[in-house]
Amino acid sequence: MDKNIRKRLEQDLEVAISRLRQMSGAVAVEEIPGAIGDNSPFADEVDEIQANERREIGFATRELLVERVNRLSAALDRLSEGEYGTCVECAEEISPARLHAMPEVQTCVRCQDRIERLGRQYEPEETELQLDED
Ligand SMILES: [Zn+2]
Repeated sequence: MDKNIRKRLEQDLEVAISRLRQMSGAVAVEEIPGAIGDNSPFADEVDEIQANERREIGFATRELLVERVNRLSAALDRLSEGEYGTCVECAEEISPARLHAMPEVQTCVRCQDRIERLGRQYEPEETELQLDED
């Protein structure tokens, strides 16, 4: 089982990172000034509002992707340390079905429910995301 899980985590991680890279590229291109042609001032304004909306959606998605990348690499670390599949809160085993649906989870259903009820975002460890810039 471990081998398959590792493969899946690595694949998911790769996909998430490449999406993140594509997204960073798209944002950079959009921010080049003078990209909008000689439209009327009103059209410029509408374009700008739409561009801002797109950027905000982009940032939100980007944040989710960064979180996913962090969770996936943390899961790979845990797999190496033999802690994978164990709830970080209560040390019970996480159900295989849950791991199958979300291989990067670190908590069992019960702890997840409790955490969500408490309304805090669960951050088990401070993981800095580092992408190679090229
Ligand atoms: Zn638990």
